Amino acid sequence: MENTKMLIGGDAVSAASGATFEVTAPASGAVLGQVPRAGATDVDRAVRAAARGFDDWYRLRPAEREAALLRAAELVAREGHERFLDTLIDESGSTVTKARGEIAYTVDLLRTAAGEARRLYGETFPNDDPRRISMVIREPLGVVAVVSPYNAPLSLLTKMCAFPLAAGNSLVIKPSEETPLTALAFGRLLLDAGVPPAAVSVVTGFGAECGAELINHPGVRCIALTGSTNTGIAVGQSALGRMRRMQLELGGKSALLVLRDADPQQAAKIAAQGIFTHAGQICMANSRIVVEREIYQPFIAALKAEAESLYLGDLRDERTVYGPLINARAVEKVLEHVREAVAGGAELLTGGELQQGLVVKPTVLLEPPRTCSAWREESFGPVTSVVAADDLEQAIELANDSEYGLSAAVLTHNLQWGLHAARRIASGAVHIGMHAFQSNALAPIGGVGLSGVGRSGGHYSTEEFTEVKWISADVGSLPR
Ligand code: NAD
Repeated sequence: MENTKMLIGGDAVSAASGATFEVTAPASGAVLGQVPRAGATDVDRAVRAAARGFDDWYRLRPAEREAALLRAAELVAREGHERFLDTLIDESGSTVTKARGEIAYTVDLLRTAAGEARRLYGETFPNDDPRRISMVIREPLGVVAVVSPYNAPLSLLTKMCAFPLAAGNSLVIKPSEETPLTALAFGRLLLDAGVPPAAVSVVTGFGAECGAELINHPGVRCIALTGSTNTGIAVGQSALGRMRRMQLELGGKSALLVLRDADPQQAAKIAAQGIFTHAGQICMANSRIVVEREIYQPFIAALKAEAESLYLGDLRDERTVYGPLINARAVEKVLEHVREAVAGGAELLTGGELQQGLVVKPTVLLEPPRTCSAWREESFGPVTSVVAADDLEQAIELANDSEYGLSAAVLTHNLQWGLHAARRIASGAVHIGMHAFQSNALAPIGGVGLSGVGRSGGHYSTEEFTEVKWISADVGSLPR
């Protein structure tokens, strides 16, 4: 069992109060470690350190920031399995395959972000007065509070940190209380890679305590939160109250459209991956599937067979498709969504019960009432709802029957239909010929509606984490 300290200004420290909390493994219930339960004093110390660290970091040349992020990428490429694999599996209930995928994506994100450090382009624009020159430059914001979720505790945290760092900001990280060990290991890796110690701190604790202290701290210039929509609304309101910049990546209720020309077997395989990867604990999971009536029956037969064939064994067994949900509360929420849908008239095609421990069987609901939680709210579990549509137009309408809009997908071989749907679906992304859970370090990831505010990835991130400044100069008369 690890007795881990927080990282503040390069020092490994306990909470000022001495309080700690337990980190447990969702698969076994074993206690993995005790971490400090940070409060106001610790947060204040971390923000003050980051304010000093901002000077150390921003003063470096962009090429030096690029080099530090590249060293971090190389460290993950070389030592990522040793540093992160077991923690990811134990702490977040990831399968070995998902944990390896996160480590590989972390390398890619760090390399991509490193390149952005030298691409903080500005511009000039014409001025009517010929004696004047106008330019626009980009500057980092200062201390960024990074508040991260539990579902992809390494790769999402990396995405949230690497791009603001590339732009010259310093960070105070507040990881999910479910997965602080991964975040502490990531913080140590950044320091090992040569990021100045004061530029990155990691405070561990609960959202309502240390998270709330952090986002309300006057020294924080920008809040980056990836989490549930309810948290996003609360955090967004406080950020706005202090006129702080914010980037909010929140929940989803992503629709997968299966059009009549799709192959039902292949579509069912893609749909199963889109919803059951990491037990549906993915913001872009296909938790709603809309199928054109012509292929509805063969599709649901294939999806039932696919769901019932998934292997749910030991997390370190490569055949295992997914493991436990993060905690008992998450299991209760998912099962309650299923009970409510069935009570409202949905047919339970398969699943709807526990396999063992916190592992919920792959669950498919047919034709739930459009008012029930399983259709309207994020279940964040291995549960999807399938509904039939008469035609493409009705399928699009059903896809848009949501206040969320993070990612959507269309399975068709007809690119015209696919692009037509892509342009009509209100969503931050639409993918054709694949499921909705896609990532790419350069892509603008983010949502519309309840799915959040802002975009992350590539230069979209560095734009979010910089402020533009107009500088004009009177340079006298034009040269002849
Ligand atoms: P959560 O909202 O419970 O917690 C997220 C983080 O916010 C945690 O670190 C938590 O401690 C902190 N927090 C909670 N209340 C707070 C408060 N009042 N002030 C400050 N911080 C607070 O989310 P979760 O359960 O950890 O993660 C799952 C959610 O994240 C899902 O809704 C999922 O869709 C979403 N998510 C979105 C994306 C995306 O890219 N849009 C990616 C991954 C996860």
